[in-house]
Amino acid sequence: MALRIDDKFPGANVRVLERNEGADPAVVFTADPHGGPEALWFDFRVADDAPPDPMPETLRLALRFFGNLLGGYGNPEFCRPVYRADGKNWLRLPPPSVRQLPDGQSVLEWALPYPVAPVEIALTHPYLPDDLRVLLQRSKGYWHEEAIGLTQRGNVLTRLDNNASLASLRGGQPRGLYLLARQHAGEAPGSWVLDGMLDGISRRKSGAPWRVWAVPFADLDGVLAGDYGKDAFPYDLNRAWGKPPMRHETLAIQRDMRRWAALCRPELVLDLHAPGLCEHDGFYVFQRTTEDAAAQRADQAWINILRQELGPEFAAETFARTANYPSRWTTARLTDFVRDEFNCPALSMEIPYGLCGTAPMTPKQYREAGRRLARAILSRW
Ligand SMILES: [Zn+2]
Repeated sequence: MALRIDDKFPGANVRVLERNEGADPAVVFTADPHGGPEALWFDFRVADDAPPDPMPETLRLALRFFGNLLGGYGNPEFCRPVYRADGKNWLRLPPPSVRQLPDGQSVLEWALPYPVAPVEIALTHPYLPDDLRVLLQRSKGYWHEEAIGLTQRGNVLTRLDNNASLASLRGGQPRGLYLLARQHAGEAPGSWVLDGMLDGISRRKSGAPWRVWAVPFADLDGVLAGDYGKDAFPYDLNRAWGKPPMRHETLAIQRDMRRWAALCRPELVLDLHAPGLCEHDGFYVFQRTTEDAAAQRADQAWINILRQELGPEFAAETFARTANYPSRWTTARLTDFVRDEFNCPALSMEIPYGLCGTAPMTPKQYREAGRRLARAILSRW
């Protein structure tokens, strides 16, 4: 018997602390901070090429340092990672059993079917550039992908646009929507919702024209490296939006947004994120605090529209919140840049990892929420 752990694939992240291969086979693991101050994202594969005889029925998975993960305080029953055996459908793990160490630390444990074929375990369904390829094929050329610059490590940063669908447009400028996901690399729920939005937009048959541009992987380096990326060093992406910007990615995206704004009437910028590990009360948005009453009304109008279309199935009861949590940086967020530069509403939306209320989230549901958001935005006029 030899339990094999694989963390050498795009998006992988794990720190294995122990692997027990006796009568109680177990993998004791945690999320690796990858050099950042916060840890949360994990994604790894376990297999046993030569299982013992008789074969154990289950493999115990033990998540350590729960209290050090972002949002890993209280409520461990809402920590619900996903797994899939042999590349088949993802399943969500049940609530963990919680073991207390004598010093008060909590260890979260699950039993998995014994991994004869490789089993992949992740915080939630991963979303990588290959998943985006599938969407682009499905949308039959509606979305054009354009390179807009390089990342801090030299990967090519891309943006999607629907410019071709506006080629025959006469008269005034179309309305403009700019979308972003993965400013924090591990926040994969944002990508699934973006996927649903892009799908919904590409299928739209009528209505006023919109120029829609989207950066699907703002922190592409972090996505590929399996970083969690919240408050990543040297600078959190979503605190690097000052002028001048503090990251090369934000520099490239700022310049791209200016090109977008020159070709449309900017109506909304929506930035998709995921909250703390155990948050489960649904989608919500962070509203900017501003003294400008007109700007506040413009934000509020969008908040009402998005909330209504998401419905109680997805929208948290407290849907509009103020980002008043302590931050490691006081510099500009994306929403500050957009307001300052384009005087246009900008919202960041938090999409839970595991549950909306009591319903476990699946890619199908994330996408359905995305289609609702697209419908809400594009049918406003
Ligand atoms: Zn975030």
